[in-house]
Amino acid sequence: MNYDIQKIRSYFPVLHQKVYDKPLVYFDSAASAQKPIQVLMAKEKLHNDYYGNIHRGAHFMADKTTVQFEEVRDKIRNFINAESREEIIFTKGTTESVNLVAYSFCEKFVKEGDEIIVSEMEHHANIVPWQLAAERKKAKIVKLPFNDLGVLEIEKLPSLINQKTKLIAVAHVSNVLGTVNPVSEIIELAHENNVAVFVDGAQAVQHLQIDVQKLDADFYAFSAHKLYGPNGVGVLYGKKKWLEQIPPYQGGGEMIAEVSFEGTTFNQLPLKFEAGTPNITSVIAFGAAIGLIIEIGLQNIEEWELSLLEYATSKLKEVQGIRIYGEAPEKSSVISFNIEGIHFYDLGVLLDKMGIAVRTGHLCADTVMQHFGINGCVRISFGLYNTKAEIDIFIAALNKVRLMF
Ligand code: PLP
Repeated sequence: MNYDIQKIRSYFPVLHQKVYDKPLVYFDSAASAQKPIQVLMAKEKLHNDYYGNIHRGAHFMADKTTVQFEEVRDKIRNFINAESREEIIFTKGTTESVNLVAYSFCEKFVKEGDEIIVSEMEHHANIVPWQLAAERKKAKIVKLPFNDLGVLEIEKLPSLINQKTKLIAVAHVSNVLGTVNPVSEIIELAHENNVAVFVDGAQAVQHLQIDVQKLDADFYAFSAHKLYGPNGVGVLYGKKKWLEQIPPYQGGGEMIAEVSFEGTTFNQLPLKFEAGTPNITSVIAFGAAIGLIIEIGLQNIEEWELSLLEYATSKLKEVQGIRIYGEAPEKSSVISFNIEGIHFYDLGVLLDKMGIAVRTGHLCADTVMQHFGINGCVRISFGLYNTKAEIDIFIAALNKVRLMF
């Protein structure tokens, strides 16, 4: 594999620093990834060279900004192979994308007594909006469970789907277990029963090549900040047939065709779902992040990160008293664990003092914690810039902490 890790790391100046006088080891990319210089420069260039509000200006600056903004939409369309650019909606992030669909889809298609199936391994962002919608519509949430390896029990899915089922919400990759879920299989089964599928891709797009047409997903959501882009921007992909039928999520400028006190008509896709001035700067900088991913190649990134995952898993299994949560045969760059006799929070704090950034707590996935009967755990997650040498530093630090207890 041609993977120039030194060159890649050179794009991320923030990684080359010391924390508490120790070289930084950043193992928290699943929470938010670091930003390459390409992204930082894109933001600066926008504000140094030209800037205007988009879509509505009749001047050079506004036109130029609009072109750059819309080019990113095309880039994303290509990146996930959507059929058309109208199917790419810019949101604030995955959370807003879920809320948009939970509100608008349920408003149109869910009625009293209907059911929405949600997997047990979801991030809170892919549970709570469905609960809120279900409450509003007097519908029911049905759980699709996972087993102790962290594998969804999709053999149970046929018995969970019935005439009342309207939608299945599932993560492509679990943020705690790292499981890569068989979303194609789920979608196929759902479609045989006229059920729509919402895929939370927040932990998938940065690791796996996504083809929404091949998956046949009805909706697919992700956040820029986990994909080496800026905060405050995300994407909702939705099939045109759904986006055309469901009502707008928010009202305001941009999303209208005509407004009068007698009534309002709505803009065409995608603007129907983009009320108000969007996060112009971050969308344009997000384009730079996608550009970098394409330059390195997702296939290369996937191979590199899988080698890190395998290496770290085998090293971690040698650590005395360890319990790993999530041992599915198909996993992505996340490992969650606890060590017997050490509170996850203490472990996180002590690792931090050794320059190692990990995530601790419930990881915004209470239902996963409840499954294992724990209050929290430690999670390490890898990005395209991590190395085996960093894993060695981490394992040595872990053993040091273990000896302290
Ligand atoms: N879904 C998953 C699987 C996640 O891991 C996260 C964030 O960690 C989210 C949704 C929410 O993403 P955001 O906070 O960017 O909206």
